[in-house]
Amino acid sequence: MPKQQSLDEFTAGKLRVLEKRNLRRHIVSTEMVDAVQVIRDGQQFVSFCGNDYLGLTQHPKIKEAAIAATEKFGVGSGASRLVTGSHPLFDELEAKLARLKGTEDAVVMGSGYLTNMGVLPTLIGAQDAIIVDELSHACILTGSDLSGSREYIYRHNDLDHLKELLTENRSNHRNCLIVTDGVFSMDGDLAPVKELLEIADMYDAWLMTDDAHGIGVVGGGRGSCFVGGQHLKVPLQMGTLSKAIGSYGGYLCASGPVVDFIRTRCRTLIYSTGLSPASVAAAIAAIDLIEADPEFAALPLRKAQDFTSAVGMPAAASPIVPIILGDTERTMSAARLLEEQDLLVVAIRPPTVPIGKARLRITFSAAHDDQDIARLADFLKQILSQQEENRGD
Ligand SMILES: *Cc1c(COP(=O)(O)O)cnc(C)c1O
Repeated sequence: MPKQQSLDEFTAGKLRVLEKRNLRRHIVSTEMVDAVQVIRDGQQFVSFCGNDYLGLTQHPKIKEAAIAATEKFGVGSGASRLVTGSHPLFDELEAKLARLKGTEDAVVMGSGYLTNMGVLPTLIGAQDAIIVDELSHACILTGSDLSGSREYIYRHNDLDHLKELLTENRSNHRNCLIVTDGVFSMDGDLAPVKELLEIADMYDAWLMTDDAHGIGVVGGGRGSCFVGGQHLKVPLQMGTLSKAIGSYGGYLCASGPVVDFIRTRCRTLIYSTGLSPASVAAAIAAIDLIEADPEFAALPLRKAQDFTSAVGMPAAASPIVPIILGDTERTMSAARLLEEQDLLVVAIRPPTVPIGKARLRITFSAAHDDQDIARLADFLKQILSQQEENRGD
């Protein structure tokens, strides 16, 4: 059999199995009209699915900064940052990130995914333990797998379970790293960072927070270590420039020695091309905006809370609000009915979330119109009560 044919048969067979299990995914071309209006297959929607919490992907000043950087430095960086790809904008961005997060230094690389995938195996290895919240992002697990260290999973935000695992296992390992999302990407709740930091100290473990959904939107825009006016000194704070920051890229904020070691040994930084000047310049302009106006950074959370209050749910803790319906078919059907009203909400199903936990994941942006939020709340209430009635029949 020719090789191409066996390859196609293999992949087509895999797809058929996934299709049967309702697990086939599709990428749909989507045009952004502005920060929340999108066009898909000719239909215009108000989107409640993006992570562009501050609408900065479309901000005129940020576009201007990206264009100016492209004019000055070109469209690409042309090499790894360890070779000639570290255009001068990187230093400026790293200094700003370190200041925003209150750490000695920061390092920027290709994406949040690449940051976790590179940083974790750089810091821990076969003699070590990594203890991860069960709802942490997929790329933390990728980094953990690559590190070769012993992985323990603790129940979501369950500090007693975490302590139990540490008591039982800490002494069997050289170093121990606890990792959690700061703001959980599918549930929108926050990690108890203060308590985690205390536990980490108690058991001689390191703590890392993934603040992909925290930077720019909670803690006055400074992230989950700053919620409620605190300043929690988490030694490893990573995140992405691709969500509230509106650009692309990943970062780690940490002490001088940690960041220097990452610059020296982290494979996803060393063997991958530096971010484009436009991406870095956009991130700089975004951070300037957030620092200058923490009240603007508070808008997405306020809008999420307007919504949770309108539908009678507990107040949102972040701009991410899950409506957990459990059943995949019911969730897909609710999303389709909202689409008929030009409201785009993503249905999240297993394996992205656990079986029986299918949900609508609704995200709020500073750019959302209050009337659209009220409309979403009304239609959603109607759809859910209609579904309840039908189930009662
Ligand atoms: C999105 C996300 C990432 C990945 O960031 P990218 O820059 O999109 O690669 C990492 N961690 C969490 C918690 C995320 O939600």
